[in-house]
Formats: sequence, C-alpha cells, structure tokens
Amino acid sequence: MSVIKVGHDCCGCRTCKAVCKLDAISVVRDKYGFEQICVDETKCVECGMCEKVCPALHTPVIEDRKLCGLAYALDGNTRHNGSSGGLFGTFAKKVLSQQGCVYGAAFDANLQLKTTCAETEEELIPLYKSKYLLCDTHTAFGEIKEKLLAGQKVLYCASPCQVAALKLYLGKDYENLLLVDFICHGVGSQTLFDQSVSYVEKKLSGKIKSFIFRYKVKNGVSHYYYKMQYEKKGKLLNKEDLYFSFPYYNGYCKQLVCRNSCYACQYATPERVADITVGDFHNVERYEPAVDSYAGVSMLICNTQRGKAFVESVQEQLHIKEYPWEVMEKNNHFHKGDGAPKEQKAFMESVANDRFEETVDKFLKPSRDWMKLLYYKSPLFLRKIAKKLQR
Ligand SMILES: Cc1cc2nc3c(=O)[nH]c(=O)nc-3n(C[C@H](O)[C@H](O)[C@H](O)COP(=O)(O)OP(=O)(O)OC[C@H]3O[C@@H](n4cnc5c(N)ncnc54)[C@H](O)[C@@H]3O)c2cc1C
Repeated sequence: MSVIKVGHDCCGCRTCKAVCKLDAISVVRDKYGFEQICVDETKCVECGMCEKVCPALHTPVIEDRKLCGLAYALDGNTRHNGSSGGLFGTFAKKVLSQQGCVYGAAFDANLQLKTTCAETEEELIPLYKSKYLLCDTHTAFGEIKEKLLAGQKVLYCASPCQVAALKLYLGKDYENLLLVDFICHGVGSQTLFDQSVSYVEKKLSGKIKSFIFRYKVKNGVSHYYYKMQYEKKGKLLNKEDLYFSFPYYNGYCKQLVCRNSCYACQYATPERVADITVGDFHNVERYEPAVDSYAGVSMLICNTQRGKAFVESVQEQLHIKEYPWEVMEKNNHFHKGDGAPKEQKAFMESVANDRFEETVDKFLKPSRDWMKLLYYKSPLFLRKIAKKLQR
C-alpha cells in the first residue's frame, strides 16, 4: 500500500514525492485545479516510505504550551511588512543576524508560490505576508536538511501541515531548527489564483507583476486589502483595493476556494506542531481598546522551551502581553471541522466545468456583496454600531 490511500485528505505538501527514491510519485492537478499525488504502480515497490512521512497519516503535534498572548513588533516597518504584528519579520531578522537562513513562501517572477530561502534582509522581503494559496515546497525540504546537517541555523515558517511534513521528512529533531507555524484557515490552488490573475489582466489590459495579500492601507476599513503592480503600455502602475474586487481573494474570504483537506483540517487544533505559533489577533479591541488593530496585532503561542527561549531572545523588539488560553482559543481556526460553506460544492463544480468568467459571474462578482460594499463605504461610527450589533 502506498500513500495514495490518503485521497482527499492530501494537503499537497509533496513530502511523499521528495522521499520516493524510485521516482514513482508525481503531482498532477485535478479537474478543480488542486495538486494531487499520483503513484506509478509499475515503479512502486511498496516500501512504505511515502506513508511514513505523510502529515495526513501522522500528526506530530506537541501537547504543551509555555506562553501565549498578544504581540507585535516595536519597529514600525517590521510591523507594517507583516500581515499582522510582524512577528515573523522579527524572528527572521534575528536568525539572519546569527548567520542562519529563513525559509518561507514567496512568489517567483511568474507569481508562482514557492518555499524560498532568504539569507539576507533583502531576500527576506518577498517572504513577508500571508499568501492564501498552496505553497509549492519543491526541493526545499532536502535543502533544509543539508543546511541543518552542516550546522547552520534554519527558521522554517509555514502552515501547520507543512511544518508537520518537514518534521516527518527529517525524522528527528535538530537543535539548530526553529519551526514557526500559523493559525490557518486553509489554502486554495495555484491554478485558481493564476486564472484570477489572467482574468484581471484582461480587464486591465496589463500584466500583473506583483501581488500582495493583506496590504496595510492608511485609514483602512478592513484587514483584507490587496496591492498589485502591473505593467501597461510600458508603464508600471499600482492598484490597491478591498479583497472582493479580486476574484481569488473574494473566493478565499468567502471560504470557497480551499482544498478538501483544509475544511476538515486535523491541524486546526490547540495542539500545535511548531515551536512557535503565530496568528491574527482579530477583535483585539475588545481586550485592548487603545491598540491600533489595523497596524497589526498578532497572537503568539510558544509551544516548546526552544520557542520560548527564542522569543525571550527577541523580547526587546516586541510588545508582548500574556493572555489566558481561554482568550486565545476564541480564534476559530484552533477548532477543526468548521467545514465548507453551502455554496462551495457548486462553486467547485463551476470551476471544473465553466469558463472562469462564468464562475466569477455566478459567485465572485463584487456587486453580489452589496451589503459589504455598503458597510465598508459607511463612516466609522456606523461601522462601529454595525459591528456591535453583530456580536
Ligand atoms: C494561508 C494562510 C491562512 C491563515 N489563516 C489564518 C487564520 O485563519 N487565523 C489567524 O489568526 N491567522 C491566519 N493566518 C496567519 C496570519 O495571517 C499571519 O500570517 C500571521 O499572524 C503572521 O503574521 P506576521 O505579521 O507575524 O508575519 P507575516 O509577515 O505575515 O509572515 C507570514 C509567514 O507565513 C509564510 N507564508 C505566507 N503564506 C504562506 C503559504 N501559503 N504557505 C506557507 N507559508 C506561507 C510567509 O513566508 C511568512 O513566513 C493565515 C496565514 C496564511 C498564510
């Protein structure tokens, strides 16, 4: 038996492919655009290696918690560059200052999301911020192992399933490895993101050169803006807008685009896989009325002694306030199985069978969100009342 039995629980981490010495595993895209594994039965000798490293079959979680609370970077730039409080940036800079390297997710020149290594602060910039699609780990796990064996310090920041995958791939702990995962509500496919990019390029008659999710806008009304740079008639132009004017981002925020494994994620639990867990501290105003939540505030959880000691080593660069676990666990994505919304099945069938333009018309047109448009265009005091009524 091979890892093929995992079926829809596959999270697309590619670890099985990385360990298969017979090259019997390939990654194919299914009709919905999701990366799935395919085993060549003529090459497979059922050695079981692929099963051993599969994070859908084994969940290497840590059942401990050393510290939890609210945190953000004191340096304004580092905080601004992050999706929430800039904790990743603070951690990464510390590791770089120790001659270490940092692995995270970055878009390449063709907007393909890949696990990427940074060894300088300049190389770190593309790694900042959440990207709401599956990151291709390609050859990264092998590279990380080589660096660990050579004694270099490595920070790996990724979704919990990918952190679990790396742990299973390595098979043992390395003192020079620091693992950071984020609270995650799932990833969509590169295919759907690419289709969205082409769709928007057609509308703009331009070529999108870069795309940033979670762009922080001055006097913003939401945490979910994007910024893109595109080339038109030889000029580089910028566009910033709210999530629902970009089809993929709209689909993500409506929770329509994720992989099957994400809707029943076994890593969306209080027990974590990494030394440190970071996340958004949404609704932080309830606990800290004076805090500027749009500048970015994170949840910080240290799950191991190594994670706690590392956070202590950067505590002068952070504002940290401890909170009891009961406050932290209000974050929905510590609890698995929030499932897919009712519309998701029909959405995916449209992805598989319709032209992308039709899928957008049916599910992702900003005009379908007139209530949200009205909310975001309203003055602050009205939005505050609406938020209070929602609670
Ligand atoms: C797909 C996704 C879903 C998330 N869902 C939630 C949620 O439901 N609730 C919540 O509280 N927080 C969620 N987060 C986490 C949150 O958005 C912030 O990323 C986190 O708080 C860290 O913020 P930061 O400012 O410290 O660092 P940032 O600079 O935002 O660092 C983000 C780190 O994640 C890595 N990364 C980004 N995208 C990916 C990806 N697709 N795959 C692997 N690694 C990636 C980056 O390389 C970087 O290392 C999610 C993040 C992602 C990427």
